[in-house]
Parts: sequence; C-alpha cells; structure tokens
Amino acid sequence: MNTDSQGLRRNRILLLYFLGVIVPGFFLGYMAIRGIRGDKAIREKQVLQELSLVSQDFFRLMNDQVSELTAITEIEKDSSQSLVFVVRKEVESPIIVVGHRMMFLPDRYLDSTENHEITGDSELAWDMEYVRKDFKGALNYYKQLAVSATNSDVIKTAWFAQARILKKQKQYADALVCYDLIGTKFYSHRINGLPAGAIALMEIARIKLLSGDTAGTVRAIFQMADYLLHPPVNCGQDPMELLISDMADLRKSITPLAKESNVILKGTDSLISRLNPFLERSGYLSGILSTIDKYVAGVGNQNFYLPAKGYRDWLIIQEDSSLNKKCWMIDLNRLSESKFPAIIKKYDPGQIYSYRVTDQSGKLLYDRVLDTDRQFLSFSFPAGLPPWKLEIRKNPEPALAAFLQSGAGLPVIFLIMIAVWLITGLIFTVYTLNAEIKLSRMKTRFISNVSHEFKSPVTSIRHMSELLKLKRVRTEEKKDEFYDSMIDQCDHLTYLIGNILDFSRIEEEMKKFHFESVNLVDLIENIVAIYRNRLSESGLTVSFTKENAIPGIIADKDAIRQVASNLLDNACKYAAAGKRIDVNLTSDSSEVCLEIKDYGSGIPKSEQEKIFERFYRIDDSKNVGIKGSGIGLTLVRKIIESHHGRVELKSKMGEGSSFFVFIPLNN
Ligand code: ADP
Repeated sequence: MNTDSQGLRRNRILLLYFLGVIVPGFFLGYMAIRGIRGDKAIREKQVLQELSLVSQDFFRLMNDQVSELTAITEIEKDSSQSLVFVVRKEVESPIIVVGHRMMFLPDRYLDSTENHEITGDSELAWDMEYVRKDFKGALNYYKQLAVSATNSDVIKTAWFAQARILKKQKQYADALVCYDLIGTKFYSHRINGLPAGAIALMEIARIKLLSGDTAGTVRAIFQMADYLLHPPVNCGQDPMELLISDMADLRKSITPLAKESNVILKGTDSLISRLNPFLERSGYLSGILSTIDKYVAGVGNQNFYLPAKGYRDWLIIQEDSSLNKKCWMIDLNRLSESKFPAIIKKYDPGQIYSYRVTDQSGKLLYDRVLDTDRQFLSFSFPAGLPPWKLEIRKNPEPALAAFLQSGAGLPVIFLIMIAVWLITGLIFTVYTLNAEIKLSRMKTRFISNVSHEFKSPVTSIRHMSELLKLKRVRTEEKKDEFYDSMIDQCDHLTYLIGNILDFSRIEEEMKKFHFESVNLVDLIENIVAIYRNRLSESGLTVSFTKENAIPGIIADKDAIRQVASNLLDNACKYAAAGKRIDVNLTSDSSEVCLEIKDYGSGIPKSEQEKIFERFYRIDDSKNVGIKGSGIGLTLVRKIIESHHGRVELKSKMGEGSSFFVFIPLNN
C-alpha cells in the first residue's frame, strides 16, 4: 500500500468518525444547549413563583400589622407609634376623637370639659390691682380666695392673679413659687387653648430672665419644650403656634452661657428643632381631621392613602352592623420604619432575598439589599394596603450550589462531558490510525526487504546451478566450491525462512519451545565456525573466547542458535568496517552471558530501544544497501524473554556495539 492510499484510508476513517461520532456529538450538544435554555426558562419560572410566594408572605404580614393596629383600643398601646389618631362616628352623633398623637386638635374637637378659663376676677380686686394699684390689698384678696373657694377654676384664677401681682411687684421668688404650684396643681388644665403647665413654665422662664438668671431661663425653656412634645391635654392650634413662637423668641434672646448651662442650651435647641416638625405635622393632620366628615360619609369599609409633603398616611374606615364608624389614621412612614425590618426578619432569617419598597412615585421607602447587580422582580401591594411596590430578588448563592441549582448546571456538565468524550475519541482515533499506518508501512517495507533478502541467495544459487548445468565449471575443485556455496546459500535461506516463521509464530503466540540440556560452548563454537568460514574471504575475523567452566543450560537449542546467528549476522552486516567480531561466553552462579561485540559505527542512543521493535530498521545512509527485514532483534529479545533472560546493548557511536544475552541457569 503506498503513502497516497494510506492517506486516503485515513481520511476515509476520519470522515466516518466525523459522520458517525462528531455529527451526532454536535447534535447531542445542540440538544443539550436547547435543554439548558429550556431549563433556564423553567428555572426563571420557578424563581418567579418563589418570589411571588415571598411577596405574598410579606403582604400577609403587613396586613397583620395593620389589623393589629385597628384592634388597638387605646392609642398609647400602639408600640409602633404608627397610629396618629383614632376617630369614632356614631349614627346621629358628632365625630369624636378617641385618641391622638398630635400636638393640638382642630377647635371643634376640643373637649369643653377640659377647658378651664380664668374666671372669678371680682370687680373689687380688679379695681385694687388696675385702678388704685393697691397690689398688697389685691394680693391679700386673692390669697383669701385661693383658700376659701371650692371651684377649681376660681382657685386657679386666684393663684394666677397672685403670681401676676407678685411679678408686677418684682417679688420674683414668690412669683416663681406660685407658678411652680400652678404647674403642678393644674398640670392637665387647658387655659385659653393652652396647657396650664406650659403657661406657668413660660412665665417662670420670663421671670428668671428678668431676674438675670439666664441658666434658670434656659432650664425653664427646656422643661417647656419637653412638656409641649407630650402635651397632657388637647390644645388649640393658634395659641400653641403663638406660644411656641414666643418660646423660640425667648430662646433667641439668650446668648451663650457658662459651660454646664450650654449643655442644657444645646438640649433645648434640639427639643425646639423637634417641636417644629411636630407642630407642622399636627397642622397637617389637623387639616385632615377638620375634613374627616367627607371620608366618613362613604358607605362600608374604606381605605384612603393620603400622601402629601413627604407624609404617607393610611386612613382606614370600618363600619359595623349598626353603621357606626371607626377610623384609624396610620403613619405609614413610621410603620415601615418600625415594622418592615421585623417582618422581613421573621420570614427570611437566612437573608436569602433582597428587598425594596417604593411608593407610588417610585420613591424608596425601605430597602435591604445585599447583592449588587441583579434584577428585581416587582410586586404591587394588594388592595387593602397602600399602592406601593415590593421589589424582591434572590441573593447570590455560593458558586457551586448556584451552578448545580441553576438548572443549567447538569446539562452544562453533560455538554462538557460530551465535548471531552468527542475530543478524546478523536485523539484516540487519530493516534490509532497513525499507529496502524506506521505498522502498515513497516509491513510493506518488511515484505519488500524480505523479498530482496531472499532474492540474492536464490539468484546466486540459480546462477551457480546454471553454470554447473552448462558444464561451464571445469575443475572438480571449483565444482566443490560451487556446491559448498550453494549449500551455504541454502542454509542462509533456511535461516531467513526460520526467522520469518518463528517471528510469525511468536507474534501469534504459537511458538513452542523444546527445552533440553544444551552445551552452550559447543553450540556457539559451531556457529562461530560457520561464520568464520563464511566470512573468510571478506577479511572479517571472528574470535571466540570463553571462561573455563561454562555450565550447560536448559534451553531450546534451535532458538538459541537463531539468537546467536541473528546477532552475528547483524555484526557482520553492520560492522564490517570494524574488521573484527568478538564472541565471548561468561557465566556466574545464576546466569550465562553471551556477548557479541563488533567495532562498527555503533548505534545512536535514540535508536537503541527502537531497534528491538518489530520491523524497525535504522534509516541511515551507512546502512544503504544492507539487506534486512527488521525482525531479527525482535526475535532475539522474544526468544530470550521466553527463556526468562534478557538482552542488553552497549553501543557508542564510532566505537561499535556489544549485545549481551543473559540466560538464567535455573529457568
Ligand atoms: P535487520 O534485519 O534490519 O538487521 P534487526 O532487527 O536484526 O533487523 O536489526 C534492526 C536494526 O538494528 C538494523 O536495521 C540495524 O540498523 C540495527 N543494528 C542491529 N545490529 C546492529 C549492529 N551490530 N551495528 C549497528 N546497527 C545494528
């Protein structure tokens, strides 16, 4: 088979491989990719379902929070402080504010029983104080009145009047005592729409300022601001605004103080800064309360979302079977702040998801975002809750878990396995093909080499027999020489045929060895003699040395003869230039060693192992024309291995080669 047809064969096999393996492989890969896509879609659907369940949980808990608020009877019990007011409207009755967290209420809701106007100023006292300027007389009058009166409003009027007169008389210490008493005694009284305590504290602050006690003034303003943040009584909007602005003016008139008082001053400023938004918020809520009738007028249960000025309020109106109504105003900003973290923590303790809550205009109200660049899925709050949006996404999972869970994981592994399988198959196929082609080339060469090797003895025998037949060989001596040569050529042919037959038997593991006791010395001597004879004319000498006592071995005689012949034959063929071949036989207690040494060109290191491979011949310019089949050394090694021995080679370029054959004595 020539190189072209081998190439064609290889291409055909590769084409078959391509059609039979690669194309189906690609098809499988394509199917796997489709599978991955399909899987991804399923996974996305699963995620959507999962997030949708999470959102429902969230909404349910949010709903629970709202229901919890509407079940509260006393506004103070709302720990989230989200309820800003609760209102009741019974059929045929006016609207009542049940409870609230505001600084003041619209006038119509101010309970008149809480109102304690200053009354009881008699004309006499008025005359004494304002016309005759008899402060002492007026003071005594009021002192008496405070003790004798039974009506608390009269008593309060008496105390306020005493304090006022004392202040006019610059009896500040006594005036302060009076105001202190008013503050404690009439703590939850409302006077002219203002809490009595606040009025008293304002007066105390003023008196302290008049008497030059700035630190005392600041302390009084501090107490007053604190008091107004939790007014103990329902107040009116206008007087409250006026009082707070007076208080702020008073504060402004105070210049920085000594260090320790400065701390109180800072505290006061911080309270005032809290009062202002409270005031504003109360104004806003008060506006809604003033118009609450229009919300309550509706039929059945209703919800109103009231966003304005950054406030987000949720008005819930419930109607009972008797058509009575109850309204809860919930501050959603506060509810979100206080409840969202708890809600989320409750059902997502493992922090699997990220959340964002945005209002109707897309403004962020709350977020707990743990990952960075994933897309959120958005869910609208259901009816019955504010019109907000909950955005959720799953936080990234650990890489491997995500890979295996993503759905794409297993098909991707499959895909990789298919690819690896195909590539491995391709490499294996190409490798096997190349090995086969190499072997096939070697066999082709072998056949041609063997033919050439056979040709020359056959040609020479034919030539000599022709000459003999034509009686061209005259002398008997010459005839004998021809006969010897023909016998020698026949022996050589037998040796060649024996080599090939043995090789094929060994290859097919059919070779049978006949082990017997062999006298190695005789055997080698015999072969050396044959070669000496054969080489006598070529000028090549063959020496044979041995140790004195070489023990006999158990071996196949013909096989060992073949080993020695092959090695000697090689030495003659490849090392003729060395003119000498040494054959040496040695032994030790365990083995005998046959060494065949030549002084030829040697064998390169890189080839020393390869020459034992079947059909292998060194492609060397020096070997051109030397006939051989490449099976001699293979046979040598196989035969010796069958005798449990080994073959070694020592060779140096330019110096020659030594082949050592070791045969164990007890094989
Ligand atoms: P061949 O029939 O070609 O001699 P062998 O298996 O006996 O086959 O030898 C393999 C190759 O080893 C030879 O082709 C030759 O190149 C190399 N070789 C064997 N013996 C020697 C030697 N004594 N000196 C140099 N080269 C050798």
